[in-house]
Amino acid sequence: MNKIVIVGAGQAAGWAVHTLRNHGYDGEIHVVSNEDNVFYERPPLSKQVLSQEAPVESLNLFPENQVDEFSVIWHKPDLAVKIDKQDKCVHLQSGKTLAFDKLLIATGSRARIPIAQWANFKNVYTLRDIQDCHSLAEQFKTAENIAVIGGGWIGLEIAATARKQGKNVEIFECGSRLCARSVSPEVSAFLKDLHEEAGTKIHLNAMELSLSEVDQDKIQIDAGPLGQITFDCVVVGAGAEISKELAVDAELDVKDGIVVNEYGQSSHADIYAAGDVAIHPGLGYCIQSWANAQNQAISAAKSMLGDLTAYQDIPWLWSDQYQCNIQILGTYQPEKTVQVVIRKTHPTQQSFFYLDDQHRLINMIAVNEAKLVKLAKRWLANATQLDPQQLQDLDFNLMKLK
Ligand SMILES: Cc1cc2nc3c(=O)[nH]c(=O)nc-3n(C[C@H](O)[C@H](O)[C@H](O)COP(=O)(O)OP(=O)(O)OC[C@H]3O[C@@H](n4cnc5c(N)ncnc54)[C@H](O)[C@@H]3O)c2cc1C
Repeated sequence: MNKIVIVGAGQAAGWAVHTLRNHGYDGEIHVVSNEDNVFYERPPLSKQVLSQEAPVESLNLFPENQVDEFSVIWHKPDLAVKIDKQDKCVHLQSGKTLAFDKLLIATGSRARIPIAQWANFKNVYTLRDIQDCHSLAEQFKTAENIAVIGGGWIGLEIAATARKQGKNVEIFECGSRLCARSVSPEVSAFLKDLHEEAGTKIHLNAMELSLSEVDQDKIQIDAGPLGQITFDCVVVGAGAEISKELAVDAELDVKDGIVVNEYGQSSHADIYAAGDVAIHPGLGYCIQSWANAQNQAISAAKSMLGDLTAYQDIPWLWSDQYQCNIQILGTYQPEKTVQVVIRKTHPTQQSFFYLDDQHRLINMIAVNEAKLVKLAKRWLANATQLDPQQLQDLDFNLMKLK
């Protein structure tokens, strides 16, 4: 094998290349990227880079000289437009055709705009890449009144960043609570309090929003019973669309995302997928997180080289909002949860534990409790039976349960 092609150059692609070279692969690696900026991580785009507390360079996954040493053959900016799985080649928009021995699809996802017309308004933004972040940071310099559509993780982070800069911020969420797909009602309530205490207005059940441009590029939101409110800009944080079209067109097995086994292999033996675009093999749906993109890609890259490495990571992601580092371990499964324990050490330091019928942890949301999350990762991996009373008892040192 001497030719690997990777489509996409984000978190998953970067770690795949790093792993291939670290594991002795010295053949060609072709990377196709429709972005000029490559091998960078996105989490700071809604946090320190948006607030301009950290420079764009801090996003780089690897130092520049290390990227040079990877000896990647770049195709950028270019777009992969078709995969021919019979002839094992990828067609690019530029007209090039890249033959491959193995292919990794790492195309990630993109920001979802619920109503296509909104994208045409000058002061309506989404946040997915460095370019979006530059534009939004520029807008934040002068905007006073900012609307965020979507009360999920990215929407909340953007709202917190704007509010910390003294902006008037209003969040419009179509559901009845914040982050409803990934956390329980009590965690949603915690998030709502956090943002309201910081001075942000939250409109739940804001279902039928209609946007229009009014004088000097301001945006008016018609929010039905709430009336019409005018903003300097609107940021849409309404979830992500999985970039799975290449795989659908190639007739690979695709559901919510590309179906892969624990080695990252799709329904075609020489085509792999990792990151946002690939289904988590243990869960059966896509996970959009930094750790998932990195670790699924590492396992896929090793497996491509014949070192079969199963990816079985327990989902873990984090979010930073105001003074809170929020970590989410496992997945929210109300049907399996028989007991909820809330351990509140301090208003901004608390943990929510979700236990199954045998008192095993299935999900944990921890606020400013990084050490405890490390320990809980082991409880989850080992299916440790826990004592709910000990979890709740502030006089009991949970580190004893190592
Ligand atoms: C603003 C923001 C904040 C986030 N914060 C957090 C956080 O706090 N914690 C956390 O765990 N996760 C966070 N995430 C999620 C995390 O960044 C993603 O899960 C991760 O980037 C996914 O990596 P990926 O490599 O799969 O996809 P991406 O990083 O999206 O990379 C995919 C690349 O492929 C390119 N591409 C797509 N199609 C083609 C094509 N046909 N041809 C060529 N190139 C193509 C895309 O343009 C993109 O550059 C955040 C994401 C965003 C956007």
